[in-house]
Amino acid sequence: MQKIIITGGAGYIGSHTAVALQESGFDVVVIDNLSNSSVASLDGVASITGTRPCFECVDCTNIEALRSVFNRHSDAVGVIHFAALKAVGESVQQPLLYYRNNLDGLINVLTCMLEFQIPNIVFSSSATVYGVPSVLPVTEETPLQPATSPYGQTKVIGENIIRDTVLANPVLGATLLRYFNPIGAHPSGLIGEHPNGIPNNLMPYITQTAAGIRPMLRIFGDDYDTPDGFCVRDYIDVNDLAAAHVAALQYMLKGATGISTFNLGTGRGYSVMELVNAFQESTGADVPYQIVARRAGDVPAIWADASLAGRVLNWRADTPLSETLKSAWRWQQNCKK
Ligand code: NAD
Ligand code: UDP
Repeated sequence: MQKIIITGGAGYIGSHTAVALQESGFDVVVIDNLSNSSVASLDGVASITGTRPCFECVDCTNIEALRSVFNRHSDAVGVIHFAALKAVGESVQQPLLYYRNNLDGLINVLTCMLEFQIPNIVFSSSATVYGVPSVLPVTEETPLQPATSPYGQTKVIGENIIRDTVLANPVLGATLLRYFNPIGAHPSGLIGEHPNGIPNNLMPYITQTAAGIRPMLRIFGDDYDTPDGFCVRDYIDVNDLAAAHVAALQYMLKGATGISTFNLGTGRGYSVMELVNAFQESTGADVPYQIVARRAGDVPAIWADASLAGRVLNWRADTPLSETLKSAWRWQQNCKK
């Protein structure tokens, strides 16, 4: 069985990817410091797949601790690096925390990969690297814009660190995955997104409002230059996203070298209001909302051209939106128990 190390594997996208990897026959080692997750997600992975991933509770910014884990798992054939802090607003308040955590962590992971000759890395990048795009949908060739937050900067700089490292070390191959807006949960309802405190992201805010945990969803802005005046995003099912990581690893393991970059989205944009309405229709749950002022820093509209991933990885996001919304609601209801 081929072994894959996933940093941040106890988190939202990482835990779904752990399921997808195990179901594809990989042996999974999770490295996580549990700063934004708990081992309960690994219990969920175990219930779904029948196998509990090996868990190493280590902070990626601690090079000695990380080295010792890599030493024990030096037979790994690849690393998926999810571990990062991701709250945009917090990154504006505490930029050094974000640069240190996200960039030191990445540098340490790459250092260990080179030391132990682990040849493949998949990196969690983000649509945030495109800033406010002038042409839609965005392709991988769309010029990057200056990032609007320290969090976004860590993704732009992270991509560059990986590019430079691969250029200098051709034994290393890398896939940069630019996620659009991941939503939903595993259909079992056993794992899902677990935001700390008040959610920043739309989907958990919708489900928490429907569950009565929040009194009202605030919709930020109805005066954008979009068809209905609300911001437009490309919401991708987290299980489809997880499957893309498996496809990317398999592509590299078949011998692809150098750097590949893929947008991971559905290719279809939905406005905030369309998403709220679709949620209510799919689940029958009521979402009280009010329309408030725009949120600073929001991009009016962005969605992906993900056809490159379709052609090269033979991957596409095909979960119907209604299924994704139902899974998010199922997970929310399980969380309340
Ligand atoms: P998450 O917070 O649920 O998962 C990240 C995991 O990394 C957590 O379990 C956390 O405890 C761990 N972690 C953070 N810093 C660490 C460190 N120094 N050492 C070890 N573990 C550490 O977030 P997620 O939504 O699953 O995101 C995963 C990755 O995808 C992140 O890199 C994020 O920036 C990126 N991403 C997420 C989104 C999104 O909307 N969720 C969009 C684009 C990109
Ligand atoms: N949004 C909203 N209310 C919320 C959270 C988000 O109206 O409580 C909107 C936000 O303005 C954006 C969209 O939902 O247009 C997606 O926001 P999110 O933070 O989930 O992701 P982003 O695209 O900003 O990374």
